Amino acid sequence: MDVLDILRRQAGRFQCPKCGQSLAECQLEMVTHHDDQSLVKVTCAHCQDTRLIAVAFAAETETEAPAIDVRDEPAEDLGVAISADDVLDARLALAGHAGDLESLLR
Ligand SMILES: [Zn+2]
Repeated sequence: MDVLDILRRQAGRFQCPKCGQSLAECQLEMVTHHDDQSLVKVTCAHCQDTRLIAVAFAAETETEAPAIDVRDEPAEDLGVAISADDVLDARLALAGHAGDLESLLR
């Protein structure tokens, strides 16, 4: 499973919290991958704002696309060193989304 490929297909549903533009053309970079959870760096193509998001994939089936669960507290779960600023960034990214989590992911 290519996490970045899946995220890329969904990125257009995200909005940059800083400039409000669609993240469809954003840059995605895998920071760390652990089991079914990944930390991905997202760089806005419009304002170059960079933030980290943590994604976790639900159990896969052969017929359904995996669900993406964006979490706002990645540090403990992923066991990687993340500064307080990074966590805050991720929180702000999620807080900047206008809809609820359901609409963010579907
Ligand atoms: Zn932006």
